[in-house]
Amino acid sequence: MRPTNAVDLLIEGGIVVTMDPEWRVFDDGAVAIDRGVIVAVGPRWDVVRAYRPGDLIDGRGKLILPGLVNTHTHAPMTLFRGLADDLPVSDWLQRYIWPAESRFMNPEAVRWGTLLAAAEMIRSGVTTFCDMYFHVDHLARAAKEAGMRAIPSWGFVDFPLPGQAGPEDALAQAEDYIRRWQGDPLIIPSVAPHAPYTVDGRWIQEAKTLADRYGVLMHIHVAETEGEVREMQARVGKTPVMYLEELGVLDRNVLAVHCIWVTPAEIELMAERDVAVAHCPESNMKLGSGVAPLLAMLGAGVRVGLGTDSAASNNDLSVLGEIQTAALLDKLTHRDPAAIKAPTVVRMGTLGGAEALGIDHLVGSLEVGKRADVILLDLSRPHLVPLYNVYSQIAYAARASDVQTVIIDGRVVMRDRELLTLDETEVMARVREIARRIRSTEAPAPAGSGGAT
Ligand SMILES: [Zn+2]
Repeated sequence: MRPTNAVDLLIEGGIVVTMDPEWRVFDDGAVAIDRGVIVAVGPRWDVVRAYRPGDLIDGRGKLILPGLVNTHTHAPMTLFRGLADDLPVSDWLQRYIWPAESRFMNPEAVRWGTLLAAAEMIRSGVTTFCDMYFHVDHLARAAKEAGMRAIPSWGFVDFPLPGQAGPEDALAQAEDYIRRWQGDPLIIPSVAPHAPYTVDGRWIQEAKTLADRYGVLMHIHVAETEGEVREMQARVGKTPVMYLEELGVLDRNVLAVHCIWVTPAEIELMAERDVAVAHCPESNMKLGSGVAPLLAMLGAGVRVGLGTDSAASNNDLSVLGEIQTAALLDKLTHRDPAAIKAPTVVRMGTLGGAEALGIDHLVGSLEVGKRADVILLDLSRPHLVPLYNVYSQIAYAARASDVQTVIIDGRVVMRDRELLTLDETEVMARVREIARRIRSTEAPAPAGSGGAT
């Protein structure tokens, strides 16, 4: 029998940035982890003398943070990274992305695309991601294989998608999927009607009923483009937010993605209904969609997390990048350097993201009792020296490649830049092979034959 103070893992030394409600930072700290749970976090000496670890990670010269949370992506779309850039959204979707999805996104492609996304996300310190796609079982399995925490949402639209005949079939499959994965330690299932303009109201209501039956999230794109708002007004006489309100589906188990074209009254309504938002500034900038009213949403008390969106519209999956972009974009938009501050955006990339996904009781901060999703950033790099303020360093200077070690649910998945759960060389080789097939048949196909952004 092992002694009572034995723990699986101890991170000793380094600056521990907890992101807890008191914003505690331990300049020479330590984190003790046992059976996937944080059992102690505090000053190094207090923790070190109390616990005897099975495994020890030297945290000296490192910044120790909760794992980053990517609240919105489409992981398999790493296969389309750089395939069709610099195009208007409608062209991009209808001429390139949707046809490519309908032709190439079989279960095998979803698996390799997701593993590539997982490798990239782990390398950049992302420990949780929320996804919307099809062939979601394969996506969930790949995420789990990579050792990541994920909320893969069963995506659907009004027309058939690979592996699903239409909304009715999609919802039946989504229910089976939710049942299969509920209770998994890493994968939290959910359901995703793509958007109010691609899914009929009654199917959005059905999806919400299903989500409520199992207590899972409903994940949906909302008010991404000005054109979408115009289209909804012409078709149903309401904006996307007011249409969802009319359908009676807005509540705290809804994750609304983008929310760029929302009015102040709609923001108030979203706060009242406690709808969460995934803010994806880089995708919004790249597709020229607009600037989401982040300050107004935060000011109203809306839970906002950060999302990368897919690698086809970003083109990377770095939440550190989104933290920086979110800050810079809002300062520029308001022509005010104090509009949004470093701690606020760092919080959005960690605890704020966990709150938006409804999993802040599990992850998002380094606190005793939470699951151990922890990352270490190497501070011994010229662009991170000197260090006056940890939040400034994370928000304005740190890069994805500074992440050195990643722990998810107490398991070390990357150690000193070496991925331990994935054969990265094989994953990249497989993706290059799929990309060769995509490249050889690049001619546009008819519109209306696939997916998601
Ligand atoms: Zn999206």
